[in-house]
Amino acid sequence: MGPPAYKCRNCQTPIAYRDELLSKNYMAKTGQAFMFSHARNIVFGQKQETNLITGVYTIAGIFCSKCGEELGWKYLQASEARQKFKEGKFIIECSKISKEY
Ligand SMILES: [Zn+2]
Repeated sequence: MGPPAYKCRNCQTPIAYRDELLSKNYMAKTGQAFMFSHARNIVFGQKQETNLITGVYTIAGIFCSKCGEELGWKYLQASEARQKFKEGKFIIECSKISKEY
């Protein structure tokens, strides 16, 4: 594993590695979002149910453990069978992370 590729834009805490990036094809409140298989240096918010276009999900907000910035969410449970692959994955808003080349 190389150096962390994605850091909290606010405080530069490493959040995810390049090889943990699964998809760039997600949308969040503020625009484009990435899906990651893992994330570190984060804390979780309250579990909540959310109704998205693709179905009902149980998610938890994720926040930078250092500065507390909200980064996105983790999918805990998906109601639709074909969305189950999202369970345990992390969605992080592009506007909240900076990429290191
Ligand atoms: Zn931070």
